[in-house]
Amino acid sequence: METFSIQDLAGDIRGREAKSCIYCGAEKDLTAEHVVPRGIGGNLKLPNASCIGCARTILKGFEQETIVSVLQGARLHVGVKRKNRPRNEDFIPVWGENSRKMMLPIKIAPAILFLPQFHPPGLITGFPSGGIVGSFVMRLTSHWHLDNFKITPRVVIETKKFVRFIAKIAHGYAFHSFGDSFEPVLNEIIMTENTGLPWYDFIGSNASDCPKTNDLHTLSAEWQKIGDIEYLMISIQLFARFDTPGYLVVAGRR
Ligand SMILES: [Zn+2]
Repeated sequence: METFSIQDLAGDIRGREAKSCIYCGAEKDLTAEHVVPRGIGGNLKLPNASCIGCARTILKGFEQETIVSVLQGARLHVGVKRKNRPRNEDFIPVWGENSRKMMLPIKIAPAILFLPQFHPPGLITGFPSGGIVGSFVMRLTSHWHLDNFKITPRVVIETKKFVRFIAKIAHGYAFHSFGDSFEPVLNEIIMTENTGLPWYDFIGSNASDCPKTNDLHTLSAEWQKIGDIEYLMISIQLFARFDTPGYLVVAGRR
């Protein structure tokens, strides 16, 4: 098994260079692609791996929204820095009584890390099963009451967008690890909003516990034979240092 650790917030690490867009195959207007989005501290960068069109579809289609509505508390708490940091990023939105929205300094604002859990990929278990079956919830701060207001952080999750977010990371890491030497299977799920493909056959939770680590995120790749076909399995652990559960994704076959 090949494992890649995203340690922290240092500069980018150069990954495998592509010659065409890893999503649509275009050979023009190529731009570098972060495997794990830079917005949550990902620093593995694949040169020339995405065309501008696919990069935009990914960013606007699900990536930006997933980072802001699901992972915002966690990314701000681990101190992910961005090149063009907006001025208000030292503050985080929280909701008080009557759903009143307030902006609180990140140091004292209550924040949670919420990660949905699924069954393992249907291709592995042999039974297809979609939807969220559980969740990992962790309080990132101990300040939960201010001025007698009950203040709560809020996580809004759209399952399909989150799943595409995970699929995109797996697809990029599969390319980084094995280049063109496998047949990718996630392109349609990543690039199409309403695909008829059963995403839960390919994307799910990892039934095995992840090893303890201080890494920010970890990725690993492994081949697994099912019947006559070898599947490329990508394990993804986001915010690994919080002892989070992992995701398991079928990214390709050979
Ligand atoms: Zn493309």
